[in-house]
This record gives sequence, C-alpha cells and structure tokens, in this order.
Amino acid sequence: MQKISYKIGVDIGGTHIGAAIIKNGSQIIGRKQFPFPQDEVFATDYMSERGSIVCDYIYNLVTALLHEQRMSIKIISGIGIAVPGGISKDNETVIKAGNLGFYNLPLRKLVARRFENTRVSMINDADAAMLAEYTYGELQDTQTAVLITLGTGVGGGLVIAGKPFKGGMGNGIELGHMILKKDGDKCGCGHSGCVETLCSATAIKNMAIRSGYKKADDKFHARNIIDDAKDGIVDAEKIFDEFVDNLSCAIVSIINFIDPEKIVIGGGIAHTGDYLIKKLIPQVKEKSFFENGYAQICLAKYLNDAGMIGAALYNEKSLS
Ligand SMILES: [Zn+2]
Repeated sequence: MQKISYKIGVDIGGTHIGAAIIKNGSQIIGRKQFPFPQDEVFATDYMSERGSIVCDYIYNLVTALLHEQRMSIKIISGIGIAVPGGISKDNETVIKAGNLGFYNLPLRKLVARRFENTRVSMINDADAAMLAEYTYGELQDTQTAVLITLGTGVGGGLVIAGKPFKGGMGNGIELGHMILKKDGDKCGCGHSGCVETLCSATAIKNMAIRSGYKKADDKFHARNIIDDAKDGIVDAEKIFDEFVDNLSCAIVSIINFIDPEKIVIGGGIAHTGDYLIKKLIPQVKEKSFFENGYAQICLAKYLNDAGMIGAALYNEKSLS
C-alpha cells in the first residue's frame, strides 16, 4: 500500500501569500492565505528585515493552517515555497523579485530556520506551476506547449519535445518580460513595455486608474474590475477588453514563434474562467498568422493553485 504523504506548498504572490496542505502530490486538503505585507516590507531598505517580516508571515500562516486542519507539523514531510522572481541555481537565494522587494535574499535558509526538522525547498513560481501542470494537469502528454501565468506579474513555461524547457543557457523562460510595446509603461524588471505591464493584474489596475474608473488612492483589486465587467458595467468591460486585446497580442506572438499545440492559462486571473477564454479566442483568431489550425487555448487545471502544488512537488523531487 502506498504511504500517505503530506506536504505544504506556499506561494508568495505580490498581493497574497497562500499555503495549502497537499496530500499525495496534488490533493489539496486545506488552504489559507494572508495578504502580502507590502507596506511593512517596503518600509525598510534592509533586506534581512524584509526577509524576517515575510518569514514571520509564512510561519504564522502555516501554523494557523495546521491548527485549522487539526494537524501537527510532525506529519508534514516538507514545505515547498514558490517565489515570483529569479532564483539562484542552487535554489537558496532570491536574486530579484521586484514585486516583493527582494534582492539577493537567502530566503530558503531563513524559512528553514523557522521550521526546524522540516525540509524546506524553494522554486520559482512559474517553474512550480509548470511542474504541477506537467505532472498532473493540462500539460500532461503534450509535445510542444506553453503555460502563461497571469497574476500580479506574468510568468510562464514551455514544453518542447515533451519535456519542460529550461532555456538554452539555464536562465529559464521569461514570457512576462518579452517586450510588447516599445516605450511602454515601466516594468518591475527595470525595462519598459514588457508583457507584464500590459497583461497582468497590475496592468488591469493601472488601466482602471488611467481611464478614471478608479482613483489612484482607491483600495481595489484587479478582480473587482473583472467582476464589474462580468456584471456588464460598460466602463469596466472596456478595461477588460483592452486587457484581452493586449493578452491576445502576446499569445499570437508566441503562436507565431513556436506553433505550440496548446496554450494553458494559469495564475490568479485564470479564475475569470470562460469569461476570459470566450473573449480571448476570437481576438487570437483575428490576429493569427496561421489560418489552418493553431494552438488550443485553455485554462490551467489547477488555476492559481499550481504554484503551491508545484512547490510541494519540487520538495519531493529535491529529496531524491
Ligand atoms: Zn519586465
């Protein structure tokens, strides 16, 4: 009989830190999230303090989640953390995560100190999502396919010849930082006009402010705009349609570049569901170079959970 395994996956995002208890690889049996403590983190320039603040949140989040599920940390065989940013090759240090304000932060070790006797691992969030969808989700059995994760930022991954592609030089894939608009908005990476500035939740928020639908000092999330659009509020619909138009440009460029069989959309915005896909597909069709069939476009199986599931899966893999 297979031994039951429990892991915890933690996904650090620009707006929330999510954690889930995951049974036997992909079954979520409990979840919880805290807001990302942006104000506290950006109030200090000391990286060790930023790390310490986030580690406190992660520790409290995991402890509260275990308490809710009446489980002890002792039965958790590992904690995997997914981070939206560049990570060192030894998976110890966050080199650059602009949305979190992390630069050269040895985060894995800092988290591991809080959870003595539990194995802690760290992985880039898009790589984690890729691992989850490739192992159990929509990228299973694909030969050439692309995953795009739409959240505070934009990430992605690529399957080539049936295997996740890690980049020719080992740098990975940065779909979010392909430049879609020369001299466009400033991106968290320091350049301008990246896919991330046009196709992320942050982009939707900026469009809402720019169009006057929201004020710059209003507290709101991209999902509020999307909900308004779904409710038929014309000005919100206009913003969402502009977002879809931008996203279709990025997707058509990817299709024209590698002609994948499937494009899978994950991340927080994937929760928009069919409303997004139904608007996106005609836009892609209109812009596509290929007339006789091209990539199937679908939602990720695990939507925004793929980061947590993949982080936990990586924890298992890194044991071997
Ligand atoms: Zn960028």
